[in-house]
Amino acid sequence: MAFDIDMIKEVYARYPQRIQAARKAVNKPLTLTEKILYAHLSEGEATEAYQRGGSYVDFKPDRVAMQDATAQMALLQFMQAGRDQVAVPSTVHCDHLIQAEVGAAKDLTKAKDKNKEVFDFLASVSNKYGIGFWKPGAGIIHQVVLENYAFPGGMMIGTDSHTPNAGGLGMVAIGVGGADACDVMAGLPWELKFPKLIGVKLTGKMSGWTAAKDVILKVAGILTVKGGTGAIVEYFGDGARSLSATGKGTICNMGAEIGATTSIFGYDDKTAAYLEGTGRADVVALANSIAEHLTGDDEVYANPEKYFDQVIEINLSELEPHVNGPFTPDLAWPISKFAAAVKENGWPAKLEVGLIGSCTNSSYEDISRAASLAKQAVDKKLVAKSEYTITPGSEQVRFTVDRDGFLDTFGKMGGVVLANACGPCIGQWARHGADKQEKNSIITSFNRNFAKRADGNPNTHAFVASPEIVTALAIAGDLTFNPLTDSLTNEEGNQVKLDEPRGLELPPKGFAVEDAGFQAPAADGSKVKIQVSPTSDRLQLLDSFKPWEGTDLKGLKLLIKAKGKCTTDHISMAGPWLRYRGHLDNISNNMLIGAVNAYNDETNKVKNQLTGEYGEVPATQRAYKAAGIGSIVVGDENYGEGSSREHAAMEPRFLGVRAILVKSFARIHETNLKKQGMLALTFDNPADYELVQEDDSIDILGLTTFAPGKGLEVVLNHADGSVDKIKVNHTYNEGQIKWFEAGSALNLIKQGV
Ligand code: SF4
Repeated sequence: MAFDIDMIKEVYARYPQRIQAARKAVNKPLTLTEKILYAHLSEGEATEAYQRGGSYVDFKPDRVAMQDATAQMALLQFMQAGRDQVAVPSTVHCDHLIQAEVGAAKDLTKAKDKNKEVFDFLASVSNKYGIGFWKPGAGIIHQVVLENYAFPGGMMIGTDSHTPNAGGLGMVAIGVGGADACDVMAGLPWELKFPKLIGVKLTGKMSGWTAAKDVILKVAGILTVKGGTGAIVEYFGDGARSLSATGKGTICNMGAEIGATTSIFGYDDKTAAYLEGTGRADVVALANSIAEHLTGDDEVYANPEKYFDQVIEINLSELEPHVNGPFTPDLAWPISKFAAAVKENGWPAKLEVGLIGSCTNSSYEDISRAASLAKQAVDKKLVAKSEYTITPGSEQVRFTVDRDGFLDTFGKMGGVVLANACGPCIGQWARHGADKQEKNSIITSFNRNFAKRADGNPNTHAFVASPEIVTALAIAGDLTFNPLTDSLTNEEGNQVKLDEPRGLELPPKGFAVEDAGFQAPAADGSKVKIQVSPTSDRLQLLDSFKPWEGTDLKGLKLLIKAKGKCTTDHISMAGPWLRYRGHLDNISNNMLIGAVNAYNDETNKVKNQLTGEYGEVPATQRAYKAAGIGSIVVGDENYGEGSSREHAAMEPRFLGVRAILVKSFARIHETNLKKQGMLALTFDNPADYELVQEDDSIDILGLTTFAPGKGLEVVLNHADGSVDKIKVNHTYNEGQIKWFEAGSALNLIKQGV
């Protein structure tokens, strides 16, 4: 049904030669990560060794996955690309727009109704362009990808930060913005800074209460939320081979919480068992034929310090269950120390809600182990003291665990099964009473626990743990309960202990599902009509941006001189604006509303040079646009850091900003600006930032001879008649200058370039 065996065959067929070329180029034993990266070079076989953390390299991913919130702009852009079909197998997953309130069936019906036009749009675009469409209720993107598409040695990009989940099956899977997804679907290469490599050696074997989740909770504690930045984390060792494939998926999923580009495990018996269990014995047969390329070289794992940039070792036999939080996933507490931490820090010990499941932790193994505890609670006459919810990651998992009686068991404990969707994990949780903003504690088996993420209440202390620990603590209703050592009082007043959880990696009767929720695209999409209402406030078809007019830019108004941190959140806020992710005009009303104006230290208050009055940034820019006048945004250091969301580049472009001139850029945002046909410029002398005045009219000269490595001139015409001429730099290469000239990278793609 869903995976493309021919594509996998092709990928594997080129492996031996590409690895041989990589060995020659690198001239030392290879990690698994290097094998996969070098096997996916856009140029083909390697001719040079790339510098980790230095070289920018073009890759050719095998697959693209998109979730419903980010797919909207990705597909709107793709529709502009002039292609009949996507160039690589791609899928859309409807999971983020489903709000949890009372339970799966009702919540799903409500969400389908509320988001009908968005779901219809995504379905019709998918149908037209050859994209697999997973309907609302089918499951969460990463679980569905793991069950259907991930394969050892593959490379995929996904428009979601937890795309690395597929690393559990040995795939280099990386989260990106929609513009990158659009490029790859259009057949263009995808650029990535060659990552640094962190090796995690796992020894020993887990037992008892410890779960795979505890590995990543421990790693997060060691590396912190920034420790993996720019790196791929590769797990290896006997301990790694002892973990189930879905357990590995959990670890890779949550690698996003340490900032890692992605995480990965090598191909082994557990990978093969999961592939077989999910109906992919043919992938196993293919993988076995190149198995030596689907794991790192022996020498690398024997002497990891020589081959990785950093090495961490964890003994699974000694690993304690962990609880991480609150408010950050890297505050790691072994369960034996957690109760004391709760008391010392004054965190609310009473546990209000325990939530299990999500893309991170809803495998058969997770659910069966958690259910073994729920069953004990019922058998031992314990009444769960906290609310308890279960979010299955996919319909296949839900159907299977329902068939095997686990959902029934949870029900007896008072559990509520939510829709197969993100729900509370992404703030899609109509939690009653959250608006009162009371201090309270919840614990989840999800991955993120930032303030406000689950229920919007800044005083909700959210902790993350394995589904087993979440379930035990929900039964106790108490964060200070340690199920390894403590007992509970049951309904009859007796002291009872919970036995260690027990579960199975794979269902003995196999997975089953009646309707997985997949919709295959039309064989011939040419007649499929895309449904977008012209009066919609959530979706809007894109128009091409105008090409460069062929002259220097003169008389640009200064829109804002932003001071200090200006992240993509300051440029294009999230929260309530998520609703407009598919409507460029509407979402542009959040443009730069979080940026601090250097002249008054206020946000969203800038001088309109046409009237002399102060107004909101988007309204002021719209006034310039209406008058046919271009503008320029000036910024500080690391402008555009944060997410890869392309809205932060598309909005200024759409509203008529012509250039962004800053002390320095975050690289992904700089590339996004270039892709949208904007001028992304940096001060040659950062001190020149101070020369820019509020009433400036600005010229950008030298565009008619715009060339790589050659600076441009910016003329600041001040209101008092004085003038400052400054040198500005850029990093455009030949191809990117063509994007600027054409008006956007998409315009070029459209021309078949
Ligand atoms: Fe992201 Fe949570 Fe959904 Fe997973 S379940 S894809 S982490 S929002």
